[in-house]
Amino acid sequence: MAKVSEIYGSMVFNEHTMQERLPSATYKSLLKTIKESKPLDIEVANVVAHAMKEWAIEKGATHYTHWFQPLTGITSEKHDSFLDPCGDGRAIMSFSGKELIQGEPDASSFPSGGLRATFEARGYTAWDPTSYAFIKDEVLCIPTAFCSYTGEALDKKTPLLRSMSAIDEQAKRVLALFGEKPLRVTTTVGAEQEYFLISEKDYAQRQDLIMTGRTLFGYAPCKGQELEEHYFGAIRPTVNEFMKELDDELWKLGVSAKTKHNEVAPAQHELAPIFANSNRGIDENLLTMEKMRLLASHYGLVCLQHEKPFEGINGSGKHNNWSISTGKTNLLEPGESPMDNLRFLVFLTGVIQAVDDYQELLRMSVATAGNDHRLGANEAPPAIISMFLGDELGAIVDALIDDHEYTSAEKVAMDLGVSVLPNFLRDNTDRNRTSPFAFTGNKFEFRMPGSAVNLSDCNMILNTAMAKSLKEFADAMDGKTGEEFEAAAIAYIKDMLTKHQRIIFNGNGYSDEWPVEAERRGLANHRTTADALPCFVDPKSIALFEEFGVLSEPEVRSRYEVKLEKYNKLVNIEARTMKRMVRRAYLPAINDYAAEVASNITTVKAASAGADMGQQEDLLKKLLAGIKEINEQLIALDENHHACVALEDEQEQADMNAHTILPIMDKLRAAVDQMEIVTDRDHWPVPTYNDMLFYV
Ligand code: ADP
Ligand code: MG
Repeated sequence: MAKVSEIYGSMVFNEHTMQERLPSATYKSLLKTIKESKPLDIEVANVVAHAMKEWAIEKGATHYTHWFQPLTGITSEKHDSFLDPCGDGRAIMSFSGKELIQGEPDASSFPSGGLRATFEARGYTAWDPTSYAFIKDEVLCIPTAFCSYTGEALDKKTPLLRSMSAIDEQAKRVLALFGEKPLRVTTTVGAEQEYFLISEKDYAQRQDLIMTGRTLFGYAPCKGQELEEHYFGAIRPTVNEFMKELDDELWKLGVSAKTKHNEVAPAQHELAPIFANSNRGIDENLLTMEKMRLLASHYGLVCLQHEKPFEGINGSGKHNNWSISTGKTNLLEPGESPMDNLRFLVFLTGVIQAVDDYQELLRMSVATAGNDHRLGANEAPPAIISMFLGDELGAIVDALIDDHEYTSAEKVAMDLGVSVLPNFLRDNTDRNRTSPFAFTGNKFEFRMPGSAVNLSDCNMILNTAMAKSLKEFADAMDGKTGEEFEAAAIAYIKDMLTKHQRIIFNGNGYSDEWPVEAERRGLANHRTTADALPCFVDPKSIALFEEFGVLSEPEVRSRYEVKLEKYNKLVNIEARTMKRMVRRAYLPAINDYAAEVASNITTVKAASAGADMGQQEDLLKKLLAGIKEINEQLIALDENHHACVALEDEQEQADMNAHTILPIMDKLRAAVDQMEIVTDRDHWPVPTYNDMLFYV
């Protein structure tokens, strides 16, 4: 096997390759575009395109594609070959700057939330030079943004890039107050991806997994995760082979896959990369998810990325580790000197303010039909947003709010006076795993995103809300320097922390008391997607996005529509799949088994009058009662489902899905699951949790 250092990034048109392949003037000018967001002219693009094509062909590529992220959240690609006929029967391979910069995918079937009527369907894709091009399956993939001809964003990437510019601009204003002038301030993301692997054979027999990505039925396995033997346990040989190939493939693509391990639930695993700037970090996560799905088939496995494939078993999340960096300095890293610490406190306070003020938007950004099964269950953070700072930092914040002296764990008194700020240590206290938004030493970890989500939405919101905090700070400090600035900054921090103290919670987020306490504090608690989505179109949200040029009002409204529609479509598919499975698989199986039990009773009684058939008679009664209950819930689901899909208003439909349809689906499921444990194994039409989760 090739050395990692040899294959790493070998399929990426990265800075190293650019430097090797481009004339130095072109390289410098492209670097300015990448690092300082300077516009790129067509001459440069032509040279870059040619070099990219030559490089790609050498690596065996025949096609190129503009790789983009429509509002479905997953990535899209349409392959064009480099082929260019010469007219004399021969052909050359060509690729121009124009083809690199702009494409027209004629993507009329992507959701646009009404932004783009289908008769003017042609959106266009625009090259994003800040995320490297790469070769995947003999196709040169060019990361692009996807917009309508009138300039509206039709994708996930464009608003993310806009939010990164917003934070860049405002953070530079703040840093200027500290006498620092970085070229670019960027946000960073490290996405920890959880997933399940099950055998293809089992998967193929489960319509629910095939259609919806989760099991709509299934009684809890005899053994769950209580023995805690899977977490960090030895990795099954087949899974290990899969992980090795995955690492190799990702490394070739320059995705810095770093950590792999078994997760808490049986058959659950995790991959964590080394973080990158948000744009590249999210692209890398999408590539990782795609490779996981594709490569699993090489090992007779299926990779499940749904947030809750198995009821009663831990679901899968995608922790979004987030920070802000100048390239040299991590701005959420507590510094060495008092001034570094003041800067850190300004940024920290900004995050606290942003998360408190826009907690509902953050919750909204991770609201999906799948994630609703996870948030609030006893494994993932609750649906309430709160922040965990850790003991050390928490004590410093308390001291600032209460205006008393801070004493560190080492009992070193620290003066919170103007020029001597605490020189505190990086926080090493216990992590609070129940907190949705936790400070982990030099970054925040947002733990609410589900495994299937595209992280652009939550980062776009986090960045924009943070840009607003920084802007307000910079505005308030305008013209202040030296000691006056320091004093004003500390007063500002104290004031902001006091105002937003309610969002800080260091206790157990899974406890029964927390939702009560959170309500008292006035924190939002949107349990379902239907409840969480409307805040997207609140005047407060629209004002935020418009202020920073991240989304216009029509763009916000279209995104809200797309999210609503997607939720409704998913629940609709689930309801249909459930009904189909009950009618065609479960009821016939249970009926057959009941008939068999009945005929056993008759046969035995005929052969031996007075035989004690008590156990079989009880079983028959149970089966018949179960069949009755299943049928009643099926009828209820059927009627309500029809009524629901007939609702014209998408929000009303979402409300009905969340509060009527899904609860009936739960009852129907429970009725079927009860039958699973009394029905003979050979009659049961699908593999059970016992079968699926403990394969070798
Ligand atoms: P955990 O205990 O949560 O696994 P790790 O230290 O392993 O914590 O980090 C988890 C993730 O956080 C990794 O993907 C890592 O690259 C990422 N990460 C570390 N520092 C930063 C940062 N400054 N910005 C964004 N992500 C970061
Ligand atoms: Mg983590």
